[in-house]
Amino acid sequence: MRIIDHFIAGAAGSGGAGRTGEVFDPNSGQVQAQVKLGSAAELEAAIAAARAAQPAWAATNPQRRARVMFRFKELVEANMDALAHMLSSEHGKVIADAKGDIQRGLEVVEFACGIPHALKGEYTQGAGPGIDVYSMRTPLGIGAGITPFNFPAMIPMWMFGVAIACGNAFILKPSERDPSVPVRLAELMREAGAPEGILQVVHGDKEMVDAILDHPAIAAVSFVGSSDIAHYVYRRGVEAGKRVQAMGGAKNHGIVMPDADLDQVVNDLSGAAFGSAGERCMALPVVVPVGDQTADRLREKLIPAIEALRVGVSTDADAHYGPVVNAAHKARVENWIQTGVDEGAELVVDGRGFKLQGHEDGFFIGPSLFDRVTPQMQSYKEEIFGPVLQIVRAPDFEMALRLPSEHQYGNGVAIFTRNGHAAREFAARVEVGMVGINVPIPVPVAYHSFGGWKRSAFGDVNQHGMEGVRFWTKVKTVTQRWPDGAPDGSNAFVIPTMG
Ligand code: NAD
Repeated sequence: MRIIDHFIAGAAGSGGAGRTGEVFDPNSGQVQAQVKLGSAAELEAAIAAARAAQPAWAATNPQRRARVMFRFKELVEANMDALAHMLSSEHGKVIADAKGDIQRGLEVVEFACGIPHALKGEYTQGAGPGIDVYSMRTPLGIGAGITPFNFPAMIPMWMFGVAIACGNAFILKPSERDPSVPVRLAELMREAGAPEGILQVVHGDKEMVDAILDHPAIAAVSFVGSSDIAHYVYRRGVEAGKRVQAMGGAKNHGIVMPDADLDQVVNDLSGAAFGSAGERCMALPVVVPVGDQTADRLREKLIPAIEALRVGVSTDADAHYGPVVNAAHKARVENWIQTGVDEGAELVVDGRGFKLQGHEDGFFIGPSLFDRVTPQMQSYKEEIFGPVLQIVRAPDFEMALRLPSEHQYGNGVAIFTRNGHAAREFAARVEVGMVGINVPIPVPVAYHSFGGWKRSAFGDVNQHGMEGVRFWTKVKTVTQRWPDGAPDGSNAFVIPTMG
């Protein structure tokens, strides 16, 4: 059985003999590898290597650090096919989507290639007589990232791309469900010229997460995962005096106005609700048609589109989506479908019991569609994270605006309309962090920033873009005076002012 090891101090195999976790091939349902689940001892080894490497890395000029990011980008591109297959074989998303996962992360690395520009400070000449003030952004030291299974390439790169370019050492604790790609990325960073100890990977579960949160040498923690864990990580990390950003779950709504182009909406929704088997925090699992007529027309078009979806193994180039990540998650999604039925929603298309011929033990779920879901239902309130689309009918625009605004999650939302005024009003008033206007998955580009509101994010700084630079640096402000020898006559006992 293949063993997936930590990547500490520039080498694999640094973990001792401890607990392991099973890594599945979701297409076959079989265990394909064992991942080491580390403890405080492995973390300590990683911290020692990070401590040894970080000061010199921080002192390396930003342009040289950027050159390492450039080389890393080239290496990832050169290894794209192999990385995508590796990712797909542990996650279950189709190859084209796995490439998208890698590419969206690479775009953050491209942003990080511009770090010399992003790190330029502020300067005021003559803030007072003979006084200049300048500020600089300095790295925090050692940062850590704890990432979810659903984007094993993109989310680690959101974090380490910016953190490392800013001059930090970074310790990644990836999801134990698909840990191979993160290790491969760390190897490629090393090959690109990142000194040993600058990007390390420690595997594990709660034990390792707690060790990271409690370790005094780690200055900042970036987390992405489900909301209860995000909240826990935020509280415990902040309690330990760290800077923490913790992104959580989601339940994104797509509002469909009566004037929307429904064929386009159905096309967009099919991908946004069912792509990656719905395992995306920016999936669109709730559609809110405005008015019964819109709802009926939409439903009529959705049913054949959903029934035409091809569920297949993740290497099937014609499959729209592949299996979910493991058996426990499959059972959880199917339980939510049953809950929806029990709560009185109308199950229009039932994806349970789906079997793919020749892959009967794979973790496949057919697409499901519910109509007449209401805001009181538990299956509406909670994240399902599977290939399940729920129709919640709204009588008018105001109700459609209230639904995502009042939901516990506030990650993404989309409105489909030809009416610019309605779209503008919606974007201004909706209580959600990322808004799409006729764009079903409004994941901001890398040089903007990613972050939801409410229980979708704890902390106040977003991922990547200049927000990422702010998160991974601290500001030092220098006020300087170079006296010209003349007495300045100021009263040293009074707080200085520029008056
Ligand atoms: P998860 O919360 O189960 O795991 C995330 C990380 O937390 C993993 O590294 C895991 O090892 C660790 N972890 C799990 N249980 C823990 C515990 N009890 N204590 C400490 N650490 C623990 O999430 P997941 O299932 O891997 O990912 C899916 C979730 O992530 C969904 O809720 C999805 O919406 C969310 N997500 C959010 C975003 C976003 O940016 N808002 C992006 C992607 C995924």
